[in-house]
Amino acid sequence: MENSASSSGSVNVSSNVCHAPVVCNCGSESKLIISWSDDNPGRRSFYGKYNASGRKCKYFSCYDPPTNDFHANLFNKIKKEIKELKATLDAHNQYAIDNVAATSLLSSVGYESIGELQNDIENLKIEVAVQKVELDIKHLQLESKE
Ligand SMILES: [Zn+2]
Repeated sequence: MENSASSSGSVNVSSNVCHAPVVCNCGSESKLIISWSDDNPGRRSFYGKYNASGRKCKYFSCYDPPTNDFHANLFNKIKKEIKELKATLDAHNQYAIDNVAATSLLSSVGYESIGELQNDIENLKIEVAVQKVELDIKHLQLESKE
């Protein structure tokens, strides 16, 4: 008993697999691009490049069959995790940049640490409170003389 797939001895190539010419009829070379779309992540396709006359060639041909659901979900999960990691990295980088800027600003006004500045602020608050009390006393003394 024979069927066409086993008798040929060759791999049964799906009709979805495309064989792309490297050069379009217009003379432009095509470029193999990997898709990162949600529907076909990881799918490779040939796209036309700018040709000799400076026009974008519209050549298109798929190289891989459509991405199956398992691989699409896997790629999309990885894409999401990379995006989240990049956001975390950006936040850390921004924090480091802000920290350097703050440290530089602090040292430009004579402080070595934020704690040193906070101490001075607390001392100034106490000084202001004492002066306010002294002013209130002077006010009361002036009012009693009137
Ligand atoms: Zn073309």
